[in-house]
Amino acid sequence: MFDYIVVGAGYAGAVMAERIATQLNQKILIIDKRKHIGGNCFDRKDENNILIHQYGPHLFHTDNRTVVSYLSQFTDWDPYHHEVLAFVDGKKVPVPFNLNSLYELFPQSLASSLEAAMLKSYALNTKVPILELKQSDDPQLQFLAEYIYEKIFVNYTAKQWGLKPEEMDGAVTARVPVFVGRDNRYFNDTYQMVPRHGYTRLFEKMLDHPNIKILLNTDFREVAEIHGSTFHLFGREFGGKIIYTGALDALFNYRFGELPYRSVEMQFETVSQSRYQEKGTVNYPNDYDFTRITEFKHIHPSNSERTTILKEFPLPYVRNENTPYYPIFTPENQRNYERYVSHAATFENLILLGRLAEYRYYDMDDIVARALELFETEFTA
Ligand code: FAD
Ligand code: UDP
Repeated sequence: MFDYIVVGAGYAGAVMAERIATQLNQKILIIDKRKHIGGNCFDRKDENNILIHQYGPHLFHTDNRTVVSYLSQFTDWDPYHHEVLAFVDGKKVPVPFNLNSLYELFPQSLASSLEAAMLKSYALNTKVPILELKQSDDPQLQFLAEYIYEKIFVNYTAKQWGLKPEEMDGAVTARVPVFVGRDNRYFNDTYQMVPRHGYTRLFEKMLDHPNIKILLNTDFREVAEIHGSTFHLFGREFGGKIIYTGALDALFNYRFGELPYRSVEMQFETVSQSRYQEKGTVNYPNDYDFTRITEFKHIHPSNSERTTILKEFPLPYVRNENTPYYPIFTPENQRNYERYVSHAATFENLILLGRLAEYRYYDMDDIVARALELFETEFTA
């Protein structure tokens, strides 16, 4: 009955299903174990009539025009430039740490001499990963790097990952570089916006096609069995393609051991005042067990008299207990993942895509771009 099975109704699965339905006119069944579409981008109005992001704050930002024009078929946008403050020594200062942060934390004369040292080594508006700044030969920059490392990165990273920054792939902390400039925004991308009516509505439009059927509340493993190197679905051998966007260790019943992920406990709170904090997100690197507080009214304005905030408490992922959100990027984990990939390659009709299945730190624009590219290269040749 179906030409394709797509496991997972997040961006990876939804983009593939939309492309196959509209461009190839083939029939797709999407299976998701959650009771809704949208994957981790799922959002909904809460009891305060505020649009909240159920699985953590999702800010769309990209330089990729192709991704923007593709998604714009399914949504209008509202501009939104995310700003983040970090709570350090009793003050809230802009993050990524930038020249403005210097003047908020240090006396004027020290701040201006540190600014001069930075501008001697780096051009204005350069982004410098903290682990790179720590290698500097200049004693003033060494002092500054050590300060930023201690006050912004080391404890936040310990909470978020259970690791030190240098124990992980440098790309993780490089996502939030030290910024030799005065732009307080969290991202510098050309396009920064949120879907006017939310991500869930965007996904509903994307998947609204007669060729697409959606089966929710269903784990793929409940309906699929592996026989040798073929998949049987609903008791029958399935000859079509399977696009799998879930975790790879789960698909193969953990035969090479578990792949580690970090999870997060999302704690939403209603506060009986119209505003809670100055900016969309405040990070707490050194205080409390949560990493950050996000206030959704900044992202999606609402005239509710109350406000909804979200505290994120990171914790290890435990099978059947919580949700795997972040692959953990160490060389050893990457090697274990590659064993699963080699095994997956013995299944002719299996395609791996997405943050879980590819064990990659994809942002939303990355995964949409990756899915569009995969469709062009693998499905239209
Ligand atoms: P997912 O959205 O995780 O979708 C995978 C789906 O597969 C899920 O719905 C899951 O239920 C389903 N599934 C898994 N296994 C099975 C199975 N066995 N059977 C059936 N269904 C299954 N990106 C940004 O660009 N900006 C941000 O601000 C941002 N903030 C983020 C904050 C947090 C806390 C997190 C965790 C991520 C954030 N992201 C952000 C990244 C964004 O969520 C991902 O890029 C995007 O969700 C990836 O889409 P995906 O389809 O690969 O995965
Ligand atoms: N990070 C940090 N302190 C901060 C912000 C970020 O140490 O105030 C580090 C931390 O390791 C984090 C990584 O930078 O996991 C990437 O941060 P980002 O905000 O991009 O994480 P995400 O929004 O994906 O959770």
